[in-house]
Amino acid sequence: TRRYVLAARPATTTGPLEDGVLRYEDHAPVPAVQDGQVLVRVAWLSLDVATRGWMNDVRNYLPPAPLGEAMRALGAGVVTQSRHPDFAAGDRVSGLLGWQEHAVVDGSTLRKVPEGVPLQAALHVLGISGQTAWLGLHDIGRPAPGETVVVTAAAGAVGSLAVQLAVAAGARVIGVAGTPEKCALVRELGAVDCVDYREQDVATAIAELAPDRVDVVFDNVGGAMLDALLPHLAVKARVVLCGAVSRYREGGPAPLRNWFHLLPNRVRMEGFIYLDHADRFDEVEADLLPRVRAGELRCQEHVLDGLKAAPDGIRLLLTGTNHGKALVKLG
Ligand code: NDP
Repeated sequence: TRRYVLAARPATTTGPLEDGVLRYEDHAPVPAVQDGQVLVRVAWLSLDVATRGWMNDVRNYLPPAPLGEAMRALGAGVVTQSRHPDFAAGDRVSGLLGWQEHAVVDGSTLRKVPEGVPLQAALHVLGISGQTAWLGLHDIGRPAPGETVVVTAAAGAVGSLAVQLAVAAGARVIGVAGTPEKCALVRELGAVDCVDYREQDVATAIAELAPDRVDVVFDNVGGAMLDALLPHLAVKARVVLCGAVSRYREGGPAPLRNWFHLLPNRVRMEGFIYLDHADRFDEVEADLLPRVRAGELRCQEHVLDGLKAAPDGIRLLLTGTNHGKALVKLG
């Protein structure tokens, strides 16, 4: 199989990867399928911000990605051989398949992709992005109808779905995103407005757009962006710590100066990792699937071609040059 192996730890925990961290292999052997395992022909890979963190040897919510193996990544594909009772050749599946074209994995780690949706939907609206947006918004954010919700990185995969779910819940949604085009998309998805943080001062704009303050922040960015929002929180606001993409900028994230606003306003700020909630995935999928089939939930795809595009794909996310869910389509 063709694959990218994590060959060495990056010299720094943030910033660009130096040569030698990832090694491309053209003819890596595919291991024999053991009892309980399946062989998957990988058709799509999910590009995720977390990938950069998994390369580092630092404490995280998962152990560091192992050296000498295909780089850890979510993927979707078709089973070509199975020694697991729940799977048969031809089944469409998703799971941690890695940066490779053929993956042998334990069947117990896979999910079947529902009928009637494209395979790659299991990597965005019905997978990591949709599950994350749903769990973060409904379990932690819990917006009531009429409440004001601010979503950062609002045009991204998770952000755009959080916007749509919050609008569907009857909230008044304000997005923050990095270009006029992205802001236009966020408004199309039902947000009352969207702040272009490269052109506008976020704190001033939010003060104008939310004079009655913000009840829920769904934050994908962290650092200075999150800090700018804290003085605008309402009493009993909820801050959903979903992502901190700004931390991968060289020098790491800006410190929070405005944390004191959390106390007098009795704000709850809570981080979560969607992978902890595997026991809820069926329930969340059951809610999302009819909305996806009815065309009520949109997720733009930013598709890169071929395995060799994967390392560069991560850079898209960190520079904001992706438009929607970043995916790699394999041969
Ligand atoms: P996106 O599609 O949202 O892409 C990332 C976007 O972040 C970029 O397009 C860019 O948009 C924005 N961005 C990048 N750097 C900065 C910066 N320094 N300041 C402000 N914005 C920036 O990616 P995903 O939807 O895959 O992920 C979104 C977030 O969700 C990430 O933080 C990720 O880590 C998190 N996540 C969390 C999970 C969990 O379980 N908690 C699971 C999955 C994802 P723009 O042009 O608007 O700047």
